[in-house]
Amino acid sequence: MRYISTRGGCPPQTFEEVLLTGLAPDGGLFVPESLPVFSPEEIRGWQGLSYSELALKIITPFIGNEIPAAALRTVIEDSYAEFDHSEVAPLSKLGDQEWILELYHGPTLAFKDFALQVLGRLLEQVLTRKKQRVVILGATSGDTGSAALEGCRHSNHVDIFILHPHQRVSAVQRKQMTTVPGDNVFNLAVEGNFDDCQRIVKAAFADQSFLPADLSLVAVNSINWARIMMQIVYYFSAALKLGAPDQAVSFSVPTGNFGDVFAGYLAKGMGLPIERLIIATNKNDILHRFISRNEYSITDLSKTFSPSMDILVSSNFERYLFDLFDRDSVALTDFMARFGKEVLSVSTQQWQRVRACFDSASVDDEATCQVIAEVFKHTGKLLDPHTAVGVKAARDCRGEASIPMISLATAHPAKFSEAIISAGLAAPELPEHLRDLFDREERYTVVPNDLGEVARFITTHCRH
Ligand SMILES: *Cc1c(COP(=O)(O)O)cnc(C)c1O
Repeated sequence: MRYISTRGGCPPQTFEEVLLTGLAPDGGLFVPESLPVFSPEEIRGWQGLSYSELALKIITPFIGNEIPAAALRTVIEDSYAEFDHSEVAPLSKLGDQEWILELYHGPTLAFKDFALQVLGRLLEQVLTRKKQRVVILGATSGDTGSAALEGCRHSNHVDIFILHPHQRVSAVQRKQMTTVPGDNVFNLAVEGNFDDCQRIVKAAFADQSFLPADLSLVAVNSINWARIMMQIVYYFSAALKLGAPDQAVSFSVPTGNFGDVFAGYLAKGMGLPIERLIIATNKNDILHRFISRNEYSITDLSKTFSPSMDILVSSNFERYLFDLFDRDSVALTDFMARFGKEVLSVSTQQWQRVRACFDSASVDDEATCQVIAEVFKHTGKLLDPHTAVGVKAARDCRGEASIPMISLATAHPAKFSEAIISAGLAAPELPEHLRDLFDREERYTVVPNDLGEVARFITTHCRH
């Protein structure tokens, strides 16, 4: 499989090349040159496979023979052995044809473990063979940081530096990042906000000359293709359990960067019968405004109970727009150049194509808390606020009542107790393996909001 940039300005790359980078050199995002498509017979034959077996079926076409089959199997099996549920991604019933897909049974209690456990091991596999080292650099508002640190800490060929905004992440989120052991793990608390952290990371990727010549930076946010690829698997897993390919299903996806829902869109393109994909946003509703009104523009950032979706611009949306523009890089580059300066829209015909696949809703904090309280009362299930946004959006957009509706449960409620308490419920306990989190020793360094200072920290601490 070859990968091309959405901006059309660089030659096709291998899986390995795409894994070991971030944005494409032309500023675009990498996408597969073509999608593997599975027939209904093939998909039917996967009923009853374990999660790891299914994952191998789905990702192998994207990797080809670049990673030996036996090594890939070990990577996948080891990654999902870290999860504390035998099904890895169990479904749980909320009501008539209404389900949640529990994606929070990994080590850091959010769906990001599905991809980052694998990403860390894939990097180790590839870098060992190439006798190469890399530096992982990422900014986080919470969940990505801990999942990336947890996934990469065992790698002997990686030093990992995660920037978070000093005193602006929740206590649980900070503790989850700063208590990860390892000589190759570095947490930097930047004296600024999340956007400042992201700006520093972007600038560092754009000019890597501060690094020793034999090192380069690798991205762990969802611009890294390997993350999207791993997230396709749970759409297949959930749909198969409810009767796919002979039964169509719909998904509701709480989304920020459009990464998770883009994986669902790919699953549909690969032959999974997905009726609707519902884009669930909080008050930060750029995607909802586009889907419902064909308006694509930036507004101000709102702070909400679902902080992992508090973002202004969904970076992965570019991957979808590339398809919507029939893979015309020139048209896409022009569209992206105008973004932020004016309110953009697509042609009526393109927008109809959007509407044929996606629905959307924006859910505020009050409605989020109402859903948390209501679902707890009727089912005894405690939803985290991101999941509650998804469940509410699913109910608002409910189409054909006979089609199962699956909302992705993206985090464990104990990670976001503020919303649970506001919903009038008792704060949930952390799962067993994290009970002593607040007694563990923290390690982090406070740094000024300055690229030069961050670069200096990296060069003094990375091994090469
Ligand atoms: C990251 C995250 C999201 C948003 O995922 P995207 O891939 O950015 O759309 C939703 N919920 C939780 C709990 C998250 O950590």
